[in-house]
Amino acid sequence: MKKSKKQKKKSAPFLKYTFFFYHLENFRTYLLTLPFFLTVTRWQKPPVLRRYLVTIFVVLIISLIRVILNFSLEQNLSYIIFTFAVVISAWYGGLGTGLFSTILSVLSGMYFSPEPGSAISIHSSEEQLRVTLFIMQGGFISLLSESVQSATRWQSIILESISDPFITYDRNMRFMYVNRRAEEMLHTSRRQLLGKRLSDLYPDAKKTIVYKYCREALHTKRFKQFEITIPQENKWFDISLYPSHDGVSVYYQDITRRKRVEKRLRQSQLQFKRFVDGNIIGVVIEDLKGKIYEANDSFLSMVGYSRADLLKGKINSVEMTPPEYSEIDLLANKRLLRKGIMTPYSKEYIRKDKKRMFMLMGGVLLNKNTQQSMKFYLDITEQKELEKKKNEFISIASHELKTPLTSVKAFTQILQRQFRNTKDDRSLYFLDNINNQLNKLNDLISNLLDVSKIEEGRLIFQEKPFLIDNLVQKIVVDFQYITSSHVIEKQGSSKAIVTGDEDRIGQVLINLISNGIKYSPQGTHVIVSVKDNKQTVVISVEDFGEGIPKEDKEKIFTRFFRSDKHEASRISGFGLGLYISKEIVRSHKGKIEVESKEGKGSTFHVTLPASAQISKKTGKSKSTKISSAL
Ligand code: ADP
Repeated sequence: MKKSKKQKKKSAPFLKYTFFFYHLENFRTYLLTLPFFLTVTRWQKPPVLRRYLVTIFVVLIISLIRVILNFSLEQNLSYIIFTFAVVISAWYGGLGTGLFSTILSVLSGMYFSPEPGSAISIHSSEEQLRVTLFIMQGGFISLLSESVQSATRWQSIILESISDPFITYDRNMRFMYVNRRAEEMLHTSRRQLLGKRLSDLYPDAKKTIVYKYCREALHTKRFKQFEITIPQENKWFDISLYPSHDGVSVYYQDITRRKRVEKRLRQSQLQFKRFVDGNIIGVVIEDLKGKIYEANDSFLSMVGYSRADLLKGKINSVEMTPPEYSEIDLLANKRLLRKGIMTPYSKEYIRKDKKRMFMLMGGVLLNKNTQQSMKFYLDITEQKELEKKKNEFISIASHELKTPLTSVKAFTQILQRQFRNTKDDRSLYFLDNINNQLNKLNDLISNLLDVSKIEEGRLIFQEKPFLIDNLVQKIVVDFQYITSSHVIEKQGSSKAIVTGDEDRIGQVLINLISNGIKYSPQGTHVIVSVKDNKQTVVISVEDFGEGIPKEDKEKIFTRFFRSDKHEASRISGFGLGLYISKEIVRSHKGKIEVESKEGKGSTFHVTLPASAQISKKTGKSKSTKISSAL
C-alpha cells in the first residue's frame, strides 16, 4: 500500500505532463481536422453576391474596430489589423474575395486615417511601402487560401464520391477523415466522429480485428489487406490499410455480392463434384484430338483403364473409337464447335481388353481456343445387346411366319379359283376376305423384317437405273385398280432416270399412296405428281384428309409412332411404313418431307437424285452408260 502511495506521489508530475501533452495532441488533431470540417461540409463556394457582401461587411467591421482603437490609443494603427479581414474573406470566398478585401482594406485604411474622411491618397514614401507590403501580404494569403481550399475540396470530392467507406485515423486512432459512406456504416455523423478516439466512441472496437491490424500497420508502416464479415448486417468487406507517418487510412470495399456469387459457385461446384464422384455416369474432359485430361472412376472402369494409364496419357478417345464411327464423330465435333453442345448419340468404343462396348455420349464445349469439352458417357452395351436380341427375334419370327403364310395364301388362291367355277358367291366372299387379311398380315411381317434389317444394317438394295415416270405411272394404275373409294390421279411427268432399287422406291410410293387413302376417309382424290428439278426428281403424294398435327410432323418418321388422333379413330397401322420409307429414301441419298394442314390434308415430297435424263427427241438417255444399262 505504502509503495503505491509513493508511486502515486511520484507519478503526479508525470500525469501532469501526460495531461498537457494529451491536450496538445488534441489541439493538433483539431487543427488538422479543421480543413476537413470546413471543406467537407462545404463542397461548393457560397454564391458570388453573398461572398462579396460578407467581404464588405468584414472589412467594415475591422475598419470600425481600427477607428475605435485609433481613437482610444490616440495613434495611427498600421494596416496589419486588416489581415483578419483578408484571412476571413479569402477563406470564405477564395482568391477573388481575398484580393477584394485587400483593396477595400487599403481604401478604408486611407479614408479613416489619420481621421475619418481623409483623402484617399498616399502621403509619404513610408506609407507607400506599408501599402505595398500589405497588398503583397493580402495577395499571398488569398492565393494560399485558394490553393489549400481547392486541394482539400478536390480530395474531399474524390473521397466522398467513392461508394465505399473510407476513414483516416491519426496515430492515436482518432478520426481524421470520414467519408459519407463511412458515416452511414457507423451510423454516426462526421461532426460527432472527427477528432474523437475510436476507442472512446466505441469501447468494444479495441477487440476488433480492424483495430488490431490498424495498430499493427501503424507500427510496421506496411500496407495490409484482409477480408471481414459483419454478420449483423450480412455484409462482407475487403479492407485495405494504408499506413503513413501521421496515421492510417482504412478503405472498406463492399464485396458482399462477390462473396455471394463465390458461395453459390462453390455450392454448385460441390454439387457437380458430388455428381461426378457419384460415378453414375462417366465424365471426361477431353479435346477434339481425343486427348483425355480428366476422367472420373466410372469412365475408367467402363473402358477398363486405370488412373495410372490416364496420368501416363495412354487413353485417347479417338484411338478407342472404331474407324466406322469416325464420320459421325466428325459431324458431332463440328456441331460441338459451332453450337457449343454435342447432342447425345451412341457409338462403339474399344476397351483396353479390345472388347467392344456401346456408349451413349454427349457433351458441352468448355473452351473454344483449347477445344476442350466435357463429355458424358453412359454404358448402353446391355441395352444394345437386348435390342439386338429383340431384332433377331423379330427377324426369326417374321421368317418363320412367312413360310406358313405363303402356303396358306397359295391354298386360299387355289380355293378361290375353284369356288369361282362353282358360283358359290358366299364362300368366294369369305375367301376374298381371308385373302385380304392375309395380305395385311404379309405386309406387317414384311415391314417387321425390314425394320430388323434396317436396325442391323442388312437392308440390301438391288441398284439399277430406271425411269421414275414409268414406275409412278404403273403404281398409280395398279392402285386405281384395287381402290374404289378414291380417284388416284397422276399429274406432271418426268424424264429423270434414277439409279436405285426400283422395288424399294415403289414400296415408298405404295406406302405414301395407301396412307393418303387411309387417312382421308372423307376424301375423294389422291394426287401423285412428278416433277424434274435440276439434278433431282420430286414425287409428291397429296391427300385431302385429316392432316397431321404440327407437333407430330417430325415424329411420324420414327419407329412405331402413330398419331394419338389416329389411334383414337381406330385407323389400323403399326407406325412402320414412314420409318422404312425414310430409311429407303435416305439410302438413295434423297429426302422425304411433309407439308400438312390439319383438316385440309397432307402432301409428302420424295426427292431423289437423278442420275440422268432421257432426251426429248430421241428418247435416249443423255448418259450413254445408263442408256445401255436400260
Ligand atoms: P401407319 O400408317 O401404319 O400407322 P406410318 O409410318 O405409315 O404408319 O405412319 C405413321 C403415322 O403418321 C400414322 O399413324 C399417322 O398418324 C401419320 N400419317 C401418315 N401418313 C398420313 C397422312 N397422309 N395423313 C395423316 N396422317 C398421316
